[in-house]
Amino acid sequence: MQSTMQDVPLLISRILTHGSTIHGSSQVITWTGEGEPHRRSFAEIGARAARLAHALRELGVEEGQPTGTLMWNNAEHVEAYFAIPSMGAVLHTLNLRLPPEQLAWIVNHAADRVVIANGSLLPLLAPLLPHLKTVEHVIVSGPGDRSLLDGASAQVHEYEELIDGKPETYDWPELDERQGAAMCYTSGTTGDPKGVVFSHRSVYLHSMQVNMAQSMGLTDQDTSLVVVPQFHVNAWGLPHATFMTGVNMLMPDRFLQPGPLAEMIESEKPTHAAAVPTIWQGLLGELKAKPRDVSSLTQVTIGGSACPPSLMKAFDELGMRVCHAWGMTETSPLGTIARPPAHVVGTDEEFAYRITQGRFPASVEARLTGPDGERLPWDGESAGELEVRGPWIAGAYYGGHGTTEALRPADKFSEDGWLKTGDVGTISSDGFLTLTDRAKDVIKSGGEWISSVELENALMSHPDVAEAAVVAVPDEKWGERPLATVVLKEGATADFNTLRAFLAEEGKIAKWQLPERWTVIEAVPKTSVGKFDKKVLRRQYAAGGLDVTQI
Ligand code: AMP
Repeated sequence: MQSTMQDVPLLISRILTHGSTIHGSSQVITWTGEGEPHRRSFAEIGARAARLAHALRELGVEEGQPTGTLMWNNAEHVEAYFAIPSMGAVLHTLNLRLPPEQLAWIVNHAADRVVIANGSLLPLLAPLLPHLKTVEHVIVSGPGDRSLLDGASAQVHEYEELIDGKPETYDWPELDERQGAAMCYTSGTTGDPKGVVFSHRSVYLHSMQVNMAQSMGLTDQDTSLVVVPQFHVNAWGLPHATFMTGVNMLMPDRFLQPGPLAEMIESEKPTHAAAVPTIWQGLLGELKAKPRDVSSLTQVTIGGSACPPSLMKAFDELGMRVCHAWGMTETSPLGTIARPPAHVVGTDEEFAYRITQGRFPASVEARLTGPDGERLPWDGESAGELEVRGPWIAGAYYGGHGTTEALRPADKFSEDGWLKTGDVGTISSDGFLTLTDRAKDVIKSGGEWISSVELENALMSHPDVAEAAVVAVPDEKWGERPLATVVLKEGATADFNTLRAFLAEEGKIAKWQLPERWTVIEAVPKTSVGKFDKKVLRRQYAAGGLDVTQI
């Protein structure tokens, strides 16, 4: 029997129309670094998105065409987020922290014709432009030296001039909900970056999940400080989700240092914030050095890499309750979120649940695969590679401009179409995921696996340790052994023997897993989205660039 329901496509234009009317008075607040932040209502964003869409159409942007943004988190970026997919084109967010050659490769691979850039990023864009083969138009928004683009081969436009006088409504097309709405490249450790293309449908469904009470559960009484960049998996879905529910967005623009973030929290009083752990470690240091009133901020979503338990505890003490989540570009990104089950809330067991990566929402199916391809049980002990599937999980990568074939590398997709995440962990019988490592970061010592994350978390709970990264290094006897690289806090007195003894204390770490190789570094190298970049450390070690002590 066919259903008797209407078949209304799930489109981003519908989220925009809803947000800019029903929640028209909610705001996008952009930090400017001086004086009052800039405030724009959802209604204004809606009108300006329509004007931008008209302007892009006049520049020849057509349905299905990737259109780049090289921007910080701000109101104009939100306008682009809605205008581009709503008119049927594909929003292509460019990661401004990637090495320039990689950025050029990505723009060429997607074949962006138009790039909207913040003025403050022209020093990055200008030297890159001659290498961007398909870019015909650059639209510049916000402060920055325009003369850097003098003589550019692409046509240069001012964002405000371009949208000025255009109609404030747009007859958004009825698109196929399965067509591409946004794309994001993910840079693996090997090979070229890979493009993940989100559909209108996947974005829509994912936004509804983000809004569920068991996920972020925000309402129009909330203000979310969106620190996670809009170029990092659609800012974890927040711009779309907030337009569904009228949550105000506080956008830091380029002011991502701990000082300005603390200032923003104190003056704009967000109730929620989202970012990777390194951002929060920085803020913690700042708040210790210079206490501020951060009492408004009661919920902090942390993901992107494992949240160290010590960070969660420190935030809890400040009244900022951390909610840990796991995901990846290929999963839109919400894959799991750690809301403890009702029966442990308020008990000693609660923390153990909160520090896991969390539970799978209804739309994300999961399975664990062992080294020989066998299915592993959900017993909280059997560790294997996590595989997932669902309506907002990638089933392939973009093949590139001019190709119709999508890419399905065998190391990323199973034969029956599940995404192989490359993350290794266990799942408990009640569905909580605990990641022990990235498959490539696991330390394989004499046939046993050592979790680098577990060692790092234990090290970072020592009061003298600011940051710690543990990587596998070759060992004649064991194959691989852990190398502990440690960033000490100012005035720290702990030496390597003390730290090793600390790890062994109370059985924190099994004796055979304790690192023998140690080194102090100034800072852990970070990837373009602020995660520990362990391949740099492995490379430095291999080149003899680290001063290692053996104990
Ligand atoms: P990206 O696509 O750049 O966001 O990277 C995705 C990867 O980040 C995942 O495959 C994980 O390895 C890692 N990751 C994300 N969230 C977490 C988390 N909560 N705990 C541990 N690793 C995480």
